[in-house]
Amino acid sequence: MNTKVLITGAGGFIGHHLTRLLVERGYWVRGVDLKYPEYEASAAHEFKLLDLRRWENTIRATEGIDEVYNLAANMGGIGFIESHKAEIMHDSALINLHMIEAARTNGAQRFLFSSSACVYPGYLQQSADVTPLKEDDAYPADAEDGYGWEKLFMERQCRHYREDYGLATRIVRFHNIYGELGTYDGGREKSPAAICRKVALAGNNDEIEVWGDGEQTRSYCYVGDCVEGIHRLMRSDYPDPLNLGTDRSVTINELVDIVSGIAGKSIEKRYDLSKPQGVRGRNSDNSRLRAVLNWEPNVSLEVGLGRTYEWIRDELAKEGRLQSTVVTA
Ligand code: NAD
Repeated sequence: MNTKVLITGAGGFIGHHLTRLLVERGYWVRGVDLKYPEYEASAAHEFKLLDLRRWENTIRATEGIDEVYNLAANMGGIGFIESHKAEIMHDSALINLHMIEAARTNGAQRFLFSSSACVYPGYLQQSADVTPLKEDDAYPADAEDGYGWEKLFMERQCRHYREDYGLATRIVRFHNIYGELGTYDGGREKSPAAICRKVALAGNNDEIEVWGDGEQTRSYCYVGDCVEGIHRLMRSDYPDPLNLGTDRSVTINELVDIVSGIAGKSIEKRYDLSKPQGVRGRNSDNSRLRAVLNWEPNVSLEVGLGRTYEWIRDELAKEGRLQSTVVTA
């Protein structure tokens, strides 16, 4: 019989891609979310609309399930997480505490929690030329206010469930996942999607707005690599937190230049220093990832951004938003 998996947040970006991968690999998949995927139908065998902040719904979601991939969270890009801290901690803590207890109650054998690079301390990320972050750097703790603290708290709860109840938990710390079928507008989008949208809407030689001075650094991981890594981690026997990202650090200015190159446009940058920028620099140390999974993400930023840009440009065209600004070569 097929292993039965539950993917929470299956209507969201990573959850939707993970659903497709696990169905392709022969799992029976139940997706749960507050909403259906926005851009295409879910591949899940069963899809339930449930609010996972409520205990009784987490019990319904985990009924008959062998393995749980818990991706549901109230989250967004830096603009959103810096201005909705109470809501984020309230919603995501309720989802996570209920989900892990429901998984245990209903006898699930494995539980994967989607944590974040936002658990890493601010004091290690004050320079653009940051030393890549190792898993053990999370302590002494000084996580991203709100969102990052909730993730760190839940990481510990996973450990307690493993030690106290024997539940096999897996903890993955994502570093800036991007790709097709992700939010690109409305305030919850992340920097790669926002930049692709702005460049697609701009004409040749136009200006686009960049948050901060553009010299802040990040590393970016393509969603196809992300879901491959999630599946490998679940299949491993590794219980401690693991980075999942690339270790190529780029500035936001470089990101804009790569996307402009893909679009074939010359784009000027207008800096808005009043906008939130997050930490000054962040990169992933992948030593443990390579050792544990014998693998690491391998889609280049140029290839991944090329796919992402094309998809966002086509969505904007479908919405009729490109007409007056489209540039012919
Ligand atoms: P997403 O916002 O696209 O997906 C999250 C999904 O959770 C959404 O579809 C949302 O509707 C759902 N959800 C929210 N509240 C819910 C509730 N009460 N009940 C049921 N469903 C609910 O985000 P994503 O990028 O796919 O992220 C997935 C996970 O990965 C999240 O836990 C996020 O914190 C984590 N993460 C993502 C990134 C990234 O770069 N995308 C980085 C670090 C961590």
